[in-house]
Amino acid sequence: MSADPDCLFCKIVAGDVPADVVHTSERTVAFRDINPQAPLHVLVVPRHHEPNAAATASADPLDLAEIAITARAVAAAEGYDDYRLVFNTGAGAQQTVFHTHCHVIAGRDLTWPPG
Ligand code: AMP
Ligand code: ZN
Repeated sequence: MSADPDCLFCKIVAGDVPADVVHTSERTVAFRDINPQAPLHVLVVPRHHEPNAAATASADPLDLAEIAITARAVAAAEGYDDYRLVFNTGAGAQQTVFHTHCHVIAGRDLTWPPG
């Protein structure tokens, strides 16, 4: 589906809910997470609504490619060559917003494995 009227991130994409937008492209919007977990914590979302990364990849692989390229640009713009990308998928993996989003996290020691 292109947009879900009940979806928070569709509303941010449409400009109906305010967000601290740091980057836009034809396919993506990137904005700061409201509850940052690192000095850099940005969410990159496709403009087109899908519930998770795999669904986005199935619907339009170029959306997923542009998310990765946008994530690199967002990190580089703030001076980070090293960063972590996270797509939580499913409630059991702590996904809380069911519009595909890539967490871009940088600026502190990123330990492995993640919690
Ligand atoms: P997830 O738990 O992977 O679904 O991530 C959802 C993320 O969205 C969380 O890190 C929230 O802090 C973030 N979030 C929720 N509402 C907003 C908002 N209005 N603006 C920016 N980030 C938000
Ligand atoms: Zn949505």
